[in-house]
Amino acid sequence: MMLDESGSSAQHNDAIAGAADLIAGAASVAVLTGAGISTDSGIPDFRGPDGVWTRDPAAERRSNITTYLSDPQVRRDAWRIRAASEMFTAEPNDGHRAITRLGDRLHTLVTQNIDGLHLAAGTPADRLVEIHGTVHRWECVACGARGPMEDALSRVRAGELDPACLICGGIVKSATILFGQSLISADLDRAERASREAEVLLAVGTSLSVYPVAGMVELAARSGRTVIIVNAQATAMDHLATVRLAGSASDLLPLIVSC
Ligand code: NAD
Repeated sequence: MMLDESGSSAQHNDAIAGAADLIAGAASVAVLTGAGISTDSGIPDFRGPDGVWTRDPAAERRSNITTYLSDPQVRRDAWRIRAASEMFTAEPNDGHRAITRLGDRLHTLVTQNIDGLHLAAGTPADRLVEIHGTVHRWECVACGARGPMEDALSRVRAGELDPACLICGGIVKSATILFGQSLISADLDRAERASREAEVLLAVGTSLSVYPVAGMVELAARSGRTVIIVNAQATAMDHLATVRLAGSASDLLPLIVSC
């Protein structure tokens, strides 16, 4: 069965009903989320039409470990932008909250987001894999010390442009995985297991263009699992979806995820 909402509104409603039935009938559901689930909380994505990188391609340099470590100006820009970031004031939206309604049927929620909104919505920490880390903590690249991001941000607000590690003087970054860094292998194992084991994989608000996370959809499809994709734009994996819904995650998830 392939249901695609791209035709009439009757087809759109059929696709919503089809997705809701598949999720209601599944004993276990894995969820993969990307930046698109948080745009309705006021946090822009990177690659969408209003995305940070779409508007300013140079911004990509701040997400690269090599430029972050080698260019003090990149770090100063990153700290200035972080100190004013909507990530620290945003609230979860109906999309984040709908996922919590899966309760014990949630196998694993793998998020590429670093904003902490799934935890804030009430997703249990032991079922959540923040595969790109979290912006709510800082880490020293030299000695590995970590701490609450708020501590580092208060130093920036007090006038430090590029706060160094107070223990060893090393370069400090957010506890996120930048381009050029490896993902944590235990997190990748959990993502793989979720793709193979859960009856349904629901991919939300992600362009599915970056591996290895995009490979979760391929693995689920190869393992005979049902794949549901919810995204504002076409994704690189739409051909593998049993149901594909185009639109806003915060509108659609409450319609397809019930208790
Ligand atoms: P991405 O490539 O997964 O693209 C986001 C997708 O979401 C786009 O295809 C866009 O069309 C879709 N989208 C936007 N708003 C939507 C909505 N309301 N409903 C449904 N779909 C919607 O991700 P990216 O933006 O290129 O970000 C790359 C990486 O950067 C992420 O994986 C993450 O690590 C990080 N990032 C995180 C956040 C966050 O934590 N909120 C925000 C931006 C970027």
